[in-house]
Amino acid sequence: MTTDSIIDAARRLATLRESIDRAARLTDRSAADINLIAVSKTHDADAIRPLIQAGQRVFGENRVQESQDKWPALREEHAGIALHLVGQLQSNKAAEAVALFDAIHSLDRPSLLSALVKAMDAAGKRVPCFIQVNIGAEEQKGGCPIAQTPALVAAARAADIPLLGLMCVPPADIEAAPFFALLAKMAREEGLPRLSMGMSGDYETAIMLGATDIRVGTALFGDRTAPARPVPASGRGMLRNSRAK
Ligand SMILES: *Cc1c(COP(=O)(O)O)cnc(C)c1O
Repeated sequence: MTTDSIIDAARRLATLRESIDRAARLTDRSAADINLIAVSKTHDADAIRPLIQAGQRVFGENRVQESQDKWPALREEHAGIALHLVGQLQSNKAAEAVALFDAIHSLDRPSLLSALVKAMDAAGKRVPCFIQVNIGAEEQKGGCPIAQTPALVAAARAADIPLLGLMCVPPADIEAAPFFALLAKMAREEGLPRLSMGMSGDYETAIMLGATDIRVGTALFGDRTAPARPVPASGRGMLRNSRAK
């Protein structure tokens, strides 16, 4: 790890924190109430270390397997790291997810709830969850249908799963604000305190509409489709691209 890479990471983090602070102040909130999750999916340990050195401690990943490959070693190097699962979770990976993650943002269906309850009981631990809502009613996307969300919230509460709040990924290429506002309204109605919403392109809007947990990848690590660091012409960049989403 070079000094330059640490300075660069610190600069990106500082720039991002300034924008978070600005958006928070505009709506009379404190930046201290906003949890920044650095989404490190597709980036290897060498790309992550400078950000840890720069002080970031909360990270997000979207795949169980990739996280198992990367994080145990990094966590041994640095204390106090919290790891959030922000991507879809298959029920057969519930036990591994419970073992590895400090929070799960993608609880979106009764079958996954059952698998998580079983895994948490077996592990003797409770991992706090967000319920992911399919806020744009997109067929190909994960998330609980809006109409079924209250029932899933109730089922999670009945199963004694610690619920943090609601999470969404709004449809791409259209204004995100109405979807953020809708998620905030749903969370209010359910009495859930936290909102996991906002990514590199829209976290300021999300904060102004009440986000408490923003999930930012590109603004911290650079573009996933064009690796920030030069890679050998071995096709490794292509391989990463195919895993990016
Ligand atoms: C990749 C990802 C992010 C981060 O997206 P950026 O646009 O790179 O900031 C946030 N949330 C989820 C669920 C993701 O999969």
